[in-house]
Amino acid sequence: MPFLVRNLAPGPAVFTDLANNIALEWQGAGDPNGDDIQQVPDGLADNVNFLRSVTRGIFVVEEATEEMQAKLTASGEAWRRRNEAQAKAAIDTLEKGKDADFVTAPCVAPGPRGGDCGVDVIVRHKHKGEKPPLCDRHAHLGSQLVLIELDKMVDGVPVTKWIIPTIGEAAPSAVTTP
Ligand SMILES: [Zn+2]
Repeated sequence: MPFLVRNLAPGPAVFTDLANNIALEWQGAGDPNGDDIQQVPDGLADNVNFLRSVTRGIFVVEEATEEMQAKLTASGEAWRRRNEAQAKAAIDTLEKGKDADFVTAPCVAPGPRGGDCGVDVIVRHKHKGEKPPLCDRHAHLGSQLVLIELDKMVDGVPVTKWIIPTIGEAAPSAVTTP
């Protein structure tokens, strides 16, 4: 059953669905000849683009039968849910991508002339801070290194450093002891 749709936009509105041979035109809201209301075919209640225009408040369905209104409401909500699900899926993908990211970190083992070895090591971003970054040559030191918090904050986060605790050197705030 065809139904009536009112254009709420101040200017003329056009809706075309070439696949279904639909081309409709409304005059702006409050048109003196009443051409801001058009009769539209039933099939539009299942048209995603049309429903989008309704949910965005461009069109409103006039004198819809209860059945039609229920259909519009259900379809509109399905569309909103789909959109929300898509947005959520996009965010989940981003989050997963972040976890899978690899970053490089300098090897923290002591270097030959004091200081750190510094050879770039590729680590998984999500393991950063869990395991010390160590190059192949220093991988065996993994169990000796502990992460300590330095007496320094950057952006409200304590700066950490991997060290090999030596006797007499306190590591009071060790946060991991692998
Ligand atoms: Zn190294």
